[in-house]
Amino acid sequence: MAKRKCKVCGVVFEKLRPLQFVCSPACGAEYAKAQRAKQAAKAKREAKAKERVKTLALRRKLETVPELTKKAQAAFNRYIRLRDAGKPCISCGAAWKDNFQACHYVPAGRSSKLRFDEDNVHGGCVRCNLYESGNLRGYRIGLIHRIGEKRVIEMETDYEVKRWGKEELRELAALYRKKARELERG
Ligand SMILES: [Zn+2]
Ligand SMILES: [Zn+2]
Repeated sequence: MAKRKCKVCGVVFEKLRPLQFVCSPACGAEYAKAQRAKQAAKAKREAKAKERVKTLALRRKLETVPELTKKAQAAFNRYIRLRDAGKPCISCGAAWKDNFQACHYVPAGRSSKLRFDEDNVHGGCVRCNLYESGNLRGYRIGLIHRIGEKRVIEMETDYEVKRWGKEELRELAALYRKKARELERG
């Protein structure tokens, strides 16, 4: 018969039957106890993981459209700032600065659809965005320069109302986080 080391006390013993891991009934009891403890710990871990999934699902369910819109907008704006880094202010042509903002041409409040349209949002200086109400006259000129007059007029005359669903907003946030990461990697 083969020799083997007792899993509990480490003594080397003659194995009498297959799947014998221990040298004696006493070590057998010890071994069984350890196995039970292991099982219990595993069950506890699994229950905890399940609970975590449930909490996450609940949190997701409770997220509101305005909250998700805010998150998607933050991800989108961040991407726009990265995309336009180094470019002058869309409205006044001022040289790029770190504090440039993602400025909407057609305001988000006027068009829910264009709120997340890359053609409609460009990097601009704080003065134009906050104090000149977007400096829309200058914005229009700069925008025509970047995307062409045809597209600008299309956006100006687009009155389609878009109701973003929760899932869509989550997807938008994920998409723009990914696009931002790609730009950061260069
Ligand atoms: Zn033993
Ligand atoms: Zn400006």
